[in-house]
Amino acid sequence: MTGTSALLAVNSLCKTYTLPGGGRLTAVDDVSFEVPRGGSLGIVGESGSGKTTVARMLVGLVRPDSGTITMDGAPRHPEPAGRRRTGSAVRLRRAREIQIVFQDPYVSLDPRLTASQCLHGVLRLHGRHDKSAAARRVAELLTQVGLGESEADARPHTLSGGQQQRLAIARALAVDPAVLVLDEAVAALDVSIQAQILTLLEQIRRETGVALVFVSHDLAVVQHVTEESVVMRNGRVVERGPTRQVLDSPTDPYTRRLLASVPRLGWDPGVAARSR
Ligand code: ADP
Ligand code: MG
Repeated sequence: MTGTSALLAVNSLCKTYTLPGGGRLTAVDDVSFEVPRGGSLGIVGESGSGKTTVARMLVGLVRPDSGTITMDGAPRHPEPAGRRRTGSAVRLRRAREIQIVFQDPYVSLDPRLTASQCLHGVLRLHGRHDKSAAARRVAELLTQVGLGESEADARPHTLSGGQQQRLAIARALAVDPAVLVLDEAVAALDVSIQAQILTLLEQIRRETGVALVFVSHDLAVVQHVTEESVVMRNGRVVERGPTRQVLDSPTDPYTRRLLASVPRLGWDPGVAARSR
């Protein structure tokens, strides 16, 4: 990997946590990967393998001990500690590069705001103050994630889990990020709803050109939305390659065990989504 054509390049990321008892735990150990513009990468591995730590380092929520993250060849420097200000120019620019969607949308959505207000708020924060342009953009985002007019005026508690996650995706897309990171974003949803969201993400990638980094413990989920995958174990990448190849002919014994634990590898989200 040369790094010259990559949109997102991650090089030798390391992160060690200090445990409450005083010990040290290496959560991420020398992790490297690249994502091309408009591409899709799966980060898979069992619980505790370091996936979320990598995802949080990508968006700047966790500071790496060492290693680099570059976007279009420019390093994403961590913000100096103590100078974190919501709305600072640097912070907003960084946010427009990489956005993240978490497992539980209900926790991350403001319960007081309707879907439409939520999206308007993001646009305002990013300096898009023209009212009619914002209204058009909000309508476009809602359509893009398959939410209708009744959902536009609904607050999160009246939306289903799938609808909440659609709103969280719309909110992440509002600033036109180059990369969308999804950390176990469908893990809490029923299989048929998972399938709908996966189909939606693939469609959004085609339409907007946003690159996806799809983090999941579930290989059955990753296989349909990613072209390339890395398999993590104990903080390290133990296998990498085209997702198809990783699934069909894994070389690492850990990947084989992980595959054996997936009950529905053969599923088809298109069929599952229609069979509701
Ligand atoms: P995954 O997302 O693959 O489940 P994580 O990145 O959440 O993995 O966690 C990797 C390891 O780091 C785990 O052993 C976890 O317990 C530990 N860990 C994660 N966050 C912290 C933290 N803030 N402090 C201490 N240990 C942590
Ligand atoms: Mg995790």
